[in-house]
Amino acid sequence: MQYVDDYRNSDRIRILVQAIRKEAVHPWQIMEICGGQTHTIARYRIEEMLPPTLGILHGPGCPVCVTPESIIDHALEIAARPEVIFTSFGDMMRVPGSHTDLLHLKACGADVRMLYSPLDALVLAENHPEKEVVFFAIGFETTAPVHLMALKEAERKGLKNFSLLCSLFAVPPAIEMILSQPDHKIDGFLIAGHVCAITGNEAYHAPATRYRRPMIVTGFEPVDILYGIYKCIRQLERKEARVENAYKRAVAENGNPEARQLMEEALEPVGREWRGIGLIPASGFALREIFSAYNAEKKFPYKGQTKTHASAVKGEKHCIAGEIMKGNKQVSDCRYFATACNPQQPFGAPMVSAEGVCAAYYHYQ
Ligand code: SF4
Repeated sequence: MQYVDDYRNSDRIRILVQAIRKEAVHPWQIMEICGGQTHTIARYRIEEMLPPTLGILHGPGCPVCVTPESIIDHALEIAARPEVIFTSFGDMMRVPGSHTDLLHLKACGADVRMLYSPLDALVLAENHPEKEVVFFAIGFETTAPVHLMALKEAERKGLKNFSLLCSLFAVPPAIEMILSQPDHKIDGFLIAGHVCAITGNEAYHAPATRYRRPMIVTGFEPVDILYGIYKCIRQLERKEARVENAYKRAVAENGNPEARQLMEEALEPVGREWRGIGLIPASGFALREIFSAYNAEKKFPYKGQTKTHASAVKGEKHCIAGEIMKGNKQVSDCRYFATACNPQQPFGAPMVSAEGVCAAYYHYQ
């Protein structure tokens, strides 16, 4: 197959659905951990194609959704400084900290700008030497190398007024945390192919063996997702539990060596709080000390003085996103879904973010 249409082809989808129906004898619950996969599943109504005994759970695969209030509060504090141009992907603009969000701060006069790439922030830093330009570097292993490329470019150009506020997460420790819950319901995983395209598959072998769960490296188009589900069901029905690459056109076993080397050079593992879930040891990345000149956390230490004018978090206490992301609940279990909580008045980050599970079900179903 050569073109993206091949991976949305209805004949291929039909063949895979038939193969899954034939293979799935027992009831199984499979978790995917990627906002892109969540959206494909919702958009193409993949769950409706599957046997009713086969459940799909949506794990913590949206970086916007898991970025904790504490980091957003720090972002707000930095963005409120008069000497700062604060830059971010658009998705983060409406995600609430403990009291407000970046969009509200922008409306109050702060210089907050939406960008498509951290490299655009470098251009701003070059054009505004009198300002400090900070980029909100959020994401999983997938996006970390892009942020680090910007950092290295800033270093090469000798830019002193550019820094990253890092909220970077690692997927494997989150899987371990989910599987260590005594009453979890997950039988197998679809692993996000773009994460493995960077890191390779190595980190998943140990949890697959330890918890006896198949882990299928999976792509993002409907044919990819159904193929990943098929591979997972095959292993489950045969009582196998190993890592299997169902996305070979993009993922090499050892990932992208250059990107891995860059991450190794610039990042160190740290404990990270995941919004709605809590602290997971070694589940995040921070800039190493040698790059502290580009570390906004160090440049602008948090003083806990964010002043706000309005509460942006109406209803978050009712939000069950954490339980959804741990696989203990479904979006349909939330009584506020598409009623009190909607994209215009979100209670939680998964309704704000374009990659969030609640926004996906709201838009497509
Ligand atoms: S629908 Fe809203 S309140 Fe319910 S889990 Fe999703 S974000 Fe939270």
